[in-house]
This record gives sequence, structure tokens and C-alpha cells, in this order.
Amino acid sequence: MNFQEILADQRSFFNSQKTKSIKFRKMYLEKLREVILKNEELLYKAIYKDFGKSKFDTYTTEISFILKDIDYYLKNLNSLSRPKKVKTNLANQLGSSKIFSEPLGCTLVIGAWNYPYQLSFSPMITALAAGNTCILKPSEVAENTMKAMAKIINENFPKEYLFVAEGGVDEITEILKLKFDKIFFTGSSKIGRIVYEAAAKNLTPVTLELGGKSPAIVTSSADFEVASKRIVWGKFLNAGQTCVAPDYILVDEKVKDSFLDALKSYILKFNYQPESEHYTQIINQRNFDRLVQFIEKEKIYIGGNYDAEKRYIEPTVLHNINWDDAVMQEEIFGPILPVLTFSNFNEALLKIAEKEKPLAAYLFTKNSEEKENFTSKISFGGGCINDVMMHLSNEHLPFGGVGNSGIGNYHGKFGFNAFSHHKAVLERATWGEPDLKYPPYSEKKLNWIKKLL
Ligand code: NAD
Repeated sequence: MNFQEILADQRSFFNSQKTKSIKFRKMYLEKLREVILKNEELLYKAIYKDFGKSKFDTYTTEISFILKDIDYYLKNLNSLSRPKKVKTNLANQLGSSKIFSEPLGCTLVIGAWNYPYQLSFSPMITALAAGNTCILKPSEVAENTMKAMAKIINENFPKEYLFVAEGGVDEITEILKLKFDKIFFTGSSKIGRIVYEAAAKNLTPVTLELGGKSPAIVTSSADFEVASKRIVWGKFLNAGQTCVAPDYILVDEKVKDSFLDALKSYILKFNYQPESEHYTQIINQRNFDRLVQFIEKEKIYIGGNYDAEKRYIEPTVLHNINWDDAVMQEEIFGPILPVLTFSNFNEALLKIAEKEKPLAAYLFTKNSEEKENFTSKISFGGGCINDVMMHLSNEHLPFGGVGNSGIGNYHGKFGFNAFSHHKAVLERATWGEPDLKYPPYSEKKLNWIKKLL
């Protein structure tokens, strides 16, 4: 595939000004919705083949998000793209000031495999809504979903506007040599650095949606029923292969036993069987092997069984864990949940603050001082109090990391902004201007300027 040629075609298409028309953008967003709905079954089959993800999970965590994004931009495109009038300062009177949201141009979206449709299509939809062209490179790790996306997009959209590139590291390395106007990447911090470096060569702006170890803190005042139900759901959804899943738990040592009891009861109740509707496989053998190494027999509280052939790992809670354990040295990204304890809430926060800034953090408590300290003392991409992961489903909140967990954010208007340039234009009247700033200068003029500014 000649990516250089495709990008050159996209550039001429962008330069034709067609993508700037709101009518054009809406027409293609509507077409995308139609194409997705028409091919829903194909999308379900492909993801099931890749890692046994059920229709229920695929609809609730992927398709519904994509449809909601399309609806959001269809509904809000006029107001998002309208020039915004702002105040004009005294020095620029008589004048008026406006901010124009203009598309950046030719964009590249690189997706991750764990929510292959959502993490590829959502940024792609946003790029198109903001008036750009787009090349999407989904992750080759989920090969069937990559092929499904390439099929439904490339058969239905002009490639000079939108194109899905298939391939692995060789292909993406070639693509990254090209000059884009924006690169939006979702994946690991390690590959994020490679993408950032490639983008820097062309001074291309990036959004990097990366990962990290996201803590869930449970204090003595928490509602354990609610906390454990929500943590179990969030951790074992997609078999823990979720960027914002609680990576580990920090629980007040006084309440550890009762909390663990509640956690166990929900794991049993949710009945995570292999090949069932509500549990998925580990994506591949490499990740399976990486994960089972974390299961230290003597630290298992519940779970610990696995089946290599089915790439199934039972929901596993590990207790008596220390910060130095292997499971605490990297993002787990699987159904293994280490539990650590603390005796002092603020010391627990300090411990989190010493680590790389996580993509998410969660706090379960009824205590308002703890809530205040949680939001003000530690840095994290985004999070919830008394829930996990749901912050990302609110399009009025920005979604993204900080530090090692990412650069920039998206969703709703934040995504639109990530794919737009905000062009500032000041229009001056051709009359009514005092001569103050023009030479020849004088003491009298300076005194006036001092008064005015
Ligand atoms: P990954 O970094 O291995 O791959 C991501 C993408 O990078 C893929 O499309 C892949 O083809 C591409 N890639 C691989 N090698 C490359 C190279 N040498 N140069 C350029 N691109 C290359 O990540 P993954 O395994 O797909 O996803 C897991 C990671 O992503 C986890 O760390 C997780 O936390 C993170 N993640 C973050 C978010 C988020 O929204 N912040 C969402 C999902 C996953």
C-alpha cells in the first residue's frame, strides 16, 4: 500500500475546502452511522473471534459509545464550529475579536486493540467532525477487528477523505515518516514515546492517550457493598484489559477483611466463566504468559486458576501485597487485582504521588475531607468518587492522561478542540484611532499610554 500517495490525495482533497463544509461533515457522519448499523453483526463476529468479547459487552462499551459520539457531533457541530466572539481590549478599540475553529488538516489516528472499535472510531469521528481528513491505523493485535474496520470504511468512503490502513509495526513505521497535521495515538507509554518522537520531526501536534497503574482507594467510611460491586465490575470487564480499570486497591487496614469479603461475594455472584457472555479472553499468548507470572500462589485471596488453551484467567485477587512485588512494577492490564493496605489516608495519597501519574484514580468514601484531599493532593488523568471508569462516559468531561499517562484529551467539545486550530482574528475599524502608538514619540504620549494601559 502506498501510504504516501494516499496522504497526498488526502492533502489535495483537504485543500479543495470540501471538508470544511458543515453539510459535508454531517453527511459523512450520518453515512458512518448507517454503515456501522448495517454491519453491526460483522463487527460483533470479528471481535468475538479476536478475544471472545460478547455482543452485550461490545454494544455497551464500544458500539453505543461510537453512536453516541456521532449523535453528539451531529447535534453540536453548528455551535462548535461557529466563530466565537470575544471581548476586545482597550488598546484595540475600535475593533472586534473572534476565534475561528479551523480543522488542522490531514490527521492520523492510531488505535489500541483492547476496545478496538471505540478507540479507533471515536477519535476518527472527532477528526472528521472537526473538518479534517483521516487515516486510521487500528491495532493489528486484534486482527479481525482491524480487517472488519478496513472493510466497512474502505468500501464506503472515498479514500482521499477517510482511509483505514491495515498492517503492523512495519506499516505504522512507514506511515509515521509522513507529515501529518495531527497525530492521535492510543496505546502504551512505551510506543507513545516512539510516536511523539516521529511527530516531533515534523512539529506535528499530538494527543497521546496512554496507560498507567490506576489506584482505587477504599477508606473505612466507604459503602463496601457499592465499592466492591463497582470495583469488581470495572476490573473484570473485558478481563481487566481496560486502560482505566482499577489496577490495584489500597484499602484501610482496619476494614480490609470486611471489604475483601464483599469483593469475593461479587466475584462469585457475577460468575465469570470461560467462554461466557460476560467474560472475555486474554488477547494473545504473550499477554497471557505475562499475566500468569503475577499470580503468586501464596498471595491468592480468590481465583488464581487459568487455562492457556482458552486464554482464560479467572478473576484473581491477590492480598498481602507490597509495593516491591512484581505485580506493582507495571500496568497489569488483565484480571489480576492486588490489594495493598494503608493505616493513614494521607500517607496513602503520598505513596501514589511518588509514582508516575496514573490515567485514572478512584476513591470510595463518605468522608468529605478525604474527597477534598483526593482531588487536590494527587495528580491523575481523571477519575471518580464512589465509582470506577464511568467518568469517561460523560461527554461533558475531558478524557485523557497527565504526565506518563498521556498528553491532551478528547470527548465532546474537548475532542473537537484537539482536532482544531483556534485561529484568533482581530478586526479593526479604519477610523477612530488616536495617534498614540505611532512615532514621533513624546512624553505626553507616554503619559497617555500609561493611563490607558
Ligand atoms: P501498544 O502501544 O502496544 O499499541 C498501540 C498502537 O501502537 C497499535 O496500533 C500498534 O499497531 C501501534 N504500534 C506498535 N508498535 C509500534 C511502533 N513501533 N511504532 C508505532 N506504532 C506502533 O498498546 P496496546 O497493547 O494496543 O494497548 C495497551 C496499552 O494502551 C495499555 O498501556 C493501555 O493502558 C493503553 N490504553 C490507553 C487508553 C487511553 O484511552 N488512554 C485506551 C486503551 C489502552
